[in-house]
Amino acid sequence: MILSNYHSHFKLDDGCGELEEYADRAIERGLSVIGISPHAPLCYRNDWSLPEPALGEYLSLIRDLKDRYKDKIEICTGLEIDYIPGSMGPADKKYADIGLEYRIGSVHSIHDPDTGEDLSVDGPVEIMEQLLEQTFGGSIKPLVKKYFELEIGMLEAGGFDILGHCDLVKKRNVGNRFFDQNEDWYRREALTMLEAAASKDIVIEVNTGGLSRKATTEVYPSEWMLERCLELKIPLTLSSDAHNPDHIDYYFEESLELLKAAGYGEIYFFSKGKWQSQPII
Ligand SMILES: [Zn+2]
Ligand SMILES: [Zn+2]
Repeated sequence: MILSNYHSHFKLDDGCGELEEYADRAIERGLSVIGISPHAPLCYRNDWSLPEPALGEYLSLIRDLKDRYKDKIEICTGLEIDYIPGSMGPADKKYADIGLEYRIGSVHSIHDPDTGEDLSVDGPVEIMEQLLEQTFGGSIKPLVKKYFELEIGMLEAGGFDILGHCDLVKKRNVGNRFFDQNEDWYRREALTMLEAAASKDIVIEVNTGGLSRKATTEVYPSEWMLERCLELKIPLTLSSDAHNPDHIDYYFEESLELLKAAGYGEIYFFSKGKWQSQPII
């Protein structure tokens, strides 16, 4: 079967290593197509996105890489773009004509209108706690609700192909530190988001990045959500959110088994500008 990964970062954003190392490792591990997807420059100060001047540098590096590797592996030009209502999103016109082959739409942070801060659910647990206390007065339900509402807002605005780590809000929830995914209110919020996703022409990624970075004990989205994705006929692709070339196919075999166990017979890959399905074998 064709193995692929469309979610990887590198040294110009918050990953490590050169683009060549991701391509070389992908070839070694038997992948047929990879996409690179650094974080698009953000509208607030941070230490994880491409700095604004580096976007052009990335686009020029990947053009060169595609050319040099064209006989060895297919390389696609992507970008992981944050949705911050009123400030930026994957549908922004500026992403339309810079040579991207696909876009990942992701929500990493929640904006606090009182302090003006954007606090990430993807960062250290202390930042999640700060977000909870400072922006939501210690109430987890409105925080989770807001997270999924932002994803629904992004789905409505469109402009992307892959919905990135769609339940990232659970990243720092190991041991049910903040909430229990089995509770009805949590399931309702997550399912409302999945229903919105099912009505759009997008693919959801099974993202193993929480596991490779030892933050979560499961993939995004959680297994119970994968079962709902199947009922809702949402196409899935598999990606590692690699921040290190060694993680280019992290937990792929296990994830394919997990998908089979959830009842999936097929998975999608993107090649030569289009999505195609293939049986999971
Ligand atoms: Zn991300
Ligand atoms: Zn990422």
